[in-house]
This record gives sequence, structure tokens and C-alpha cells, in this order.
Amino acid sequence: MADDLLIYNGRIIAETHFLSSGYVYVRDGRIASVGEEWAGIKAARTIDAGEYLVSPGFIDMHTHGIGGLDFMESDVETIVRGLREYAGFGVTKVVGSTLSNPLERIIAQAGRFREAENVSEYGDILHGVHIEGPWLAPRCRGGHALEYLRVPEKEDVHRLLGEAGDVIKTVTFAPELPNSVWLTEQLSMRGIVGVMGHTEASFEEAERVIRAGARHVTHMYDATLGYKEDPDETLAMMPGMETAVLMSDQVSIELIGWPVHAPEPFFSFIAKVKPVNKKVTVTDSLVGTGKPEGTVLSDKDGRKVYVCLGVLRMISDDPEINGNLTGSAVTMNVALRRLRDYAGIPVQEAVRWGSINPATTLGIDGETGSIRVGKAADIVLMDDDFNVKTTLLKGRTVFETG
Ligand SMILES: [Zn+2]
Repeated sequence: MADDLLIYNGRIIAETHFLSSGYVYVRDGRIASVGEEWAGIKAARTIDAGEYLVSPGFIDMHTHGIGGLDFMESDVETIVRGLREYAGFGVTKVVGSTLSNPLERIIAQAGRFREAENVSEYGDILHGVHIEGPWLAPRCRGGHALEYLRVPEKEDVHRLLGEAGDVIKTVTFAPELPNSVWLTEQLSMRGIVGVMGHTEASFEEAERVIRAGARHVTHMYDATLGYKEDPDETLAMMPGMETAVLMSDQVSIELIGWPVHAPEPFFSFIAKVKPVNKKVTVTDSLVGTGKPEGTVLSDKDGRKVYVCLGVLRMISDDPEINGNLTGSAVTMNVALRRLRDYAGIPVQEAVRWGSINPATTLGIDGETGSIRVGKAADIVLMDDDFNVKTTLLKGRTVFETG
């Protein structure tokens, strides 16, 4: 019997339309047909969607970890275990983010990504590395350690791309740093997406890298300084990166799906001004994400943080830093629910920000990212509040609630 699957009686979020009662038929891991009439279809496996939403699997193109996984620190086994946890939140593709570190550590970690991608069952969820740092602006470094920040020296760029270019998918850098136009060209030539972020670039500096091929912005409004004061005129402002990326229809913009990082009006603003396929939401989540409220975690240097309302906060005897924000702990399904709630956009459109839009930025929209005939059956069944019931990866069930 053929390896086929019928998901029926669901509300289908297809790429181009919405079906209030429909089916998705999957053969050999790919979507073979989508429609309203399933009565005549026989399949080896069937799933009654029970009127749940049938959505494309989510794609998180900026995340540092989840549960016990830290993409900068973990071994292959821990990476794979973490990929399984992503599936529990509806995620079927993840680009794992590294952090500013000595180059040899980043290259060694990229090697572990390569191995993890080849592990059967969950390895498919991993879609390479997002290099975030060391080529960032010191003033906009956010959580990155100052001691590791560098300018993109040509020798270093050649070394990173030579040894890990096959597994690198995106590179975030500050356009104002020397060699950034050259860096962007090197990335574009290899099909790697050049990403602007952690930056205080001027309008011209941002425009130059966009012309060279930069196509995305890392967590806009978070560690980006959008405007500059004119040094010659009192209180006159100069356009910065923000104006350049809003004016370019080729550049997609990502927002972290949590109001501490991107206050609510930014969601409505980006929803209004950017083209439909250039809006992306990400988690930027850290190790510990998905753990219950109040969970305390300690890193290898003994620093302690706890999970608090979608973020991680510091625990310290020093009242100056006790309670400080250290990063995001939001999951992709919650980020998308917030997006709907903040921007007041329908579920079908909110889903795009976390599926077809990141797939388009990453150049994998021909393979995944939406419910369309021919694509991989990366599918999520969820309720109206984005609570995930079932996650399918190429038609295989990789998560199911009990
Ligand atoms: Zn990050």
C-alpha cells in the first residue's frame, strides 16, 4: 500500500486561500491534493482534524535554543533532542543561531549542526546556522559579549565561509563596519542571506549593502538605532537603517514576537507598510524556553536566570542587575498568537509571518512553508489560540498531544 495520509475535517490554511472545511492528502511525504471533498479518498493513514486549524508548520529563522538546547554550546545529541522540543510548538524548520565567539568555536559548532541535520527523524527540522556576531556594532551589541566583537576582516570571512559555508544560511552584521559591502557580496555569491542587525548604520551605509544583496533585518527595533542626529543642525534627524529597509521592497523585516522586545505598535506599523511576503516573526529564544514559569537556570559560569512571562530575567544579589532582561523565552506558536492579538490581523495572515514569509527569505519556499500541492507535508494542527495538537514533518507525526 502506498505511504499516504488523509487529514480531513479541518479548517485549512492553504497558501492562497482558506477552506472552512477541507482536507489535505499526502503521498510520500508531499502534499498531493487539497480541497473540500474527501469522501472518495482512501488512504493508509487518516487523521480526523476535528475542526482544528490545519496550518503550515512554523519556521523560526532566529532562535538560540529551547529547553536544554543552546545552539552555541550543545553537542549533537542535545541539539537533536531540542529539535524534538521545537516540534511540540509547531515548528518544522529552525535556523539555529550562534553568538559572538572566537571564530574557531563558531566553526566547530557549525560542524555539530552539520551532523545533527543528518540524524534521522528530527534532523530534518534543522535548516543550518544563523551566524549572529561577531561582526556587530559595539553600541548595539545587546546580549553579545563586547570582548568577542570584531570587524569582518577578509581573512576571517574566507575562513568562516570556507570551513562552514555549506551549513551557514544567514549572517547578521552591522552595515557600518569596514568591508561590509564586500562581505555581503561574498554571502550573496554563496546563496547565504546577508542580514542587517545590531547596527547604528546610516541610510547610505544600509543602502549600500542592500544594493550588494542584503535582504533581511534581524529583530528590528531591538538593538537597531534607526535614526541619527544631524551634527550640524539642532534637533534635525538624519535617516538611518530604518528608512532604508522600509523603503526597499526586497528587504524582509523580522520582529521578536514579544512586547518587551518589540512594543505592540511596531507590529501594526510593519504589518501596514511592508509588502505581504516581507514580514517575519521569530522567537530569538534562549535555552530554557518552554520550561514552566519560574524555572531557574544556571549557565556554565554560574550565572542564574529564571523564566518570567515569556522572557528570561537575571537573578543576582546585586540589586542593580537583579531582574534584568537577558533574552526571550517565547515559543513560535505564542509569538504568532501575539502577532494576531497585537496587529489585529486574521490567523491566516499571522501564520504567514511564521511560515511562507521566512521560507521566502531563506529561499526554501519551493520546498516548504505553505500548504500547496507539491510541497513537503510540514503541517500543524492547532486550535484558534495556536495550541498545537499535532505536528507533521514530511507527513510523519513528530509531535502529538496525549
Ligand atoms: Zn539572537
